[in-house]
Amino acid sequence: MSVYAPPVQRLITELSKLPGVGGRTAQRLAFHLLRSSDEEALALARAITEVKERIGLCETCFNLADGPVCRVCADERRDPELICVVEEPSDVISIERTHEFRGRYHVLGGALSPIDGIDPEDLKIAELYERLTADPARPVREIVIATNPTTTGEATALHIAAGVRERNPDVTVTRLASGLPVGADLEYADELTLGRALVGRRAV
Ligand SMILES: [Zn+2]
Repeated sequence: MSVYAPPVQRLITELSKLPGVGGRTAQRLAFHLLRSSDEEALALARAITEVKERIGLCETCFNLADGPVCRVCADERRDPELICVVEEPSDVISIERTHEFRGRYHVLGGALSPIDGIDPEDLKIAELYERLTADPARPVREIVIATNPTTTGEATALHIAAGVRERNPDVTVTRLASGLPVGADLEYADELTLGRALVGRRAV
């Protein structure tokens, strides 16, 4: 039996499910919240509730959105013929920070990993293919694949490159240039490195 009162134990359990938070950290965070003022602790609870109620996925690119479409898709100045494919919404933020990309995005929702049971139909890959010719007036001319430089990210890039080529050979498929730390996630790359990788992207 837990030494904590059930509500405290519940808080510790929930906190320990967060990425990078182990049992000890969860315990420390829980005690921090218990010590903090009602206002402070409830502001955190409200922020969580609000984000879950108001933020959904963009119906076009599956980036985070507080309406039917995300800010990038709603921005008419962004080039609809150029699409950058990423694994997660956090990768959109990383690439936006470089200020090197003026196209649109497509968020896959993960990377292919047959070992973990993540197959093409578990990701937004079919939706990406649909976007290639969704607007006949302005068909997509380039797909920049910016999945992570990891085994699963590379496998996903190859799968998509082959899929796009098969459906629409006129579309150029590029991959971020090397220089990104191999095996690391995009969100850990600094802006300069990621910006250079984007400018120096190569055809695959
Ligand atoms: Zn969008």
